[in-house]
Amino acid sequence: MTILLHVCCGPCSTASIERLIAEGWTVVLYFSNSNIYPEAEHAKRYGELLKVAALHKMEVITEVYDHEKWLGFIAGLEGEREGGARCRACFAYNLAQAHDKARELGIEHFSTTLTVSRFKNSRQIFSVGERFDGFEAIDFKKRGGFERSIRLAKEMNLYRQHYCGCEFSIRS
Ligand code: SF4
Repeated sequence: MTILLHVCCGPCSTASIERLIAEGWTVVLYFSNSNIYPEAEHAKRYGELLKVAALHKMEVITEVYDHEKWLGFIAGLEGEREGGARCRACFAYNLAQAHDKARELGIEHFSTTLTVSRFKNSRQIFSVGERFDGFEAIDFKKRGGFERSIRLAKEMNLYRQHYCGCEFSIRS
């Protein structure tokens, strides 16, 4: 079984890839994160993912970065608290792209590493993802997944960001 895995960053990919492989999935990595600001941060997170992908001898399919388009999608929600309506829209934006890419590639299943983070509500992500055919509601933070991702990221000396991604999540 093949699954397209939307990946938010290198550290979150570590334990998620490991778990999917252990469960017998063939994993296709997909980096689609126009929410990340600034572009240099987007490039940095992508670079860290490439290190993990190289370890597994996997390629990464990359979506064109278009932060302006993402800003248009979440317009009116800029001032929402983290974990609220802006984040729900953000998940919908990225998961819609993942769904469309999976269909384009003829891959029946897709999921996201967003559930690794203990700062994100997996049920909220699932409620968005389940709007799309083929979404696999996998809670990657469960079974020690979050702690495992921290440990693996440390072992690989990966950069771990201190904010979620968009400019509205940067704390001064
Ligand atoms: S805080 Fe994170 S999930 Fe929420 S809108 Fe910003 S980048 Fe997206």
